[in-house]
Amino acid sequence: MSGALSMIDIHAHFLPQIGQQEAAAVERERAPWLRIDAGGETGQIMVGEREFRPVYRALWDADFRVAELDAQGIALQLVCATPIMFGYAWEAGRAADWAAQMNDKALSFCARHPTRLKALAQVPLQDTARACAEASRAMAAGCVGVQIGNHVGDKDLDHPDLVDFLIHCADHRIPVLVHPWDMMGGPGRMKQWMLPWLVSMAAETQLGMMSLILSGALERIPTSLRICFAHGGGSFAYLLGRADNAWRQRDIVRKDCPRPPSEYARRLHTDAIVFDPRALHLLIDVMGVDNVMLGSDYPFPLGEQQVGSLVRGVDFLSGSQRAQILSDNARRFFALPEG
Ligand SMILES: [Zn+2]
Repeated sequence: MSGALSMIDIHAHFLPQIGQQEAAAVERERAPWLRIDAGGETGQIMVGEREFRPVYRALWDADFRVAELDAQGIALQLVCATPIMFGYAWEAGRAADWAAQMNDKALSFCARHPTRLKALAQVPLQDTARACAEASRAMAAGCVGVQIGNHVGDKDLDHPDLVDFLIHCADHRIPVLVHPWDMMGGPGRMKQWMLPWLVSMAAETQLGMMSLILSGALERIPTSLRICFAHGGGSFAYLLGRADNAWRQRDIVRKDCPRPPSEYARRLHTDAIVFDPRALHLLIDVMGVDNVMLGSDYPFPLGEQQVGSLVRGVDFLSGSQRAQILSDNARRFFALPEG
């Protein structure tokens, strides 16, 4: 990448340097911690005594990260929790304390490079009142939005508790990034080849979007809600025609949803990380060029390794459309200061 830094990356993860004792003091079996290898370049995300994922220095080292952003041409990156940090299955008070700690660590991480890194907060989504309070506290402390998982146990985004949280975000102008996690399918059928990441994650995201639409929740949530779904919305754009057909053919599909599902697509945003020009073309057709934003999933191996290369490389976008996806849409969506 040559030329001035210009891109805004809205989907990137961090995990702070949490020691085993620090994590165990919150949740012995389930709180993640970071085991850094000798030399400091690589490490493991640990959960209890279990190795969860190999990682490298960019995950926890803001200076190292910004050097990589320089090399990639990224002007600003929004940093959010690695989903293993969510804590949605924990006792709510403990999860709320943890979320506040993690958000303060995210803000400290970003404060080393305040024009290059900004934080999205995590919230204890199993408790709506606490989630709303932490979202507002974190925004006042400097976060620019929240990241939530696409479900809390059996509660999908149409559940009244989660809808209440989204209404709070709409009313208080808190942008929301929805990230798939805790993937369906289980280890029995999904144990190999990263299938939970390749199959279930896309379905989880689609499930979140379809839950909001078919339940009629988007009829109740103010249109001021700014909500974005990771990984190009998973399977959503490709299968929206199937949902429209089902809505027309079966009353049990349309019973709570007064309009065809495709009419709600423009209420939602996605990131652009779909890896294939044909998929990006369809995604932009379905969501609208105003509603797609650059995201990388940095610093993980399933992310776009040369950030923005797909959007920059396709031949069907005008210069201004490319700029919308690479930065302008994110600036509007997250109310970021002009670069
Ligand atoms: Zn991600």
